[in-house]
Amino acid sequence: MERCALCKAEDTDLYENGAPICIRCAEPSPERRKIRIALFRSLQEAVERAEVATEAFSAITSKIPSGLPRPDGVQRIQNVSHELTEARNKMMKAHKRLNEFLEHGIVPGDLKRSG
Ligand SMILES: [Zn+2]
Repeated sequence: MERCALCKAEDTDLYENGAPICIRCAEPSPERRKIRIALFRSLQEAVERAEVATEAFSAITSKIPSGLPRPDGVQRIQNVSHELTEARNKMMKAHKRLNEFLEHGIVPGDLKRSG
C-alpha cells in the first residue's frame, strides 16, 4: 500500500501512470481525468524546474569568494536568482491549480479550451 499521490491522505493499491492513486481521486469522467493528469504533470515539471534552479543557485553562491564578485559574476547571480524566483512562483501556481481542481472542481481556463 502506498499513499495516494494526489490527496496524500488515502492508502491505495491502485496506480495510474505509475503514480499511486486512491479510489476517491480516480476520476470516473475521462474529461476530468485528462485535466487532472495535465495539472499533476505540470506540477511535477514545476517542482523539477525549481529543484534545478535551487541547485544552480546554491552552486553559484557557494563559489563566491570573499569580497565583491566581479561584474559578470553579479550578472550570473542575478540570472540564477531570477530563475529561482520564477521557478518557485510557477510551482506555487501549479500547486494552487491542482488543489483548486481537486478540492473545488475548478478547471483552469487554458485547460477548458484545449478539451
Ligand atoms: Zn487520493
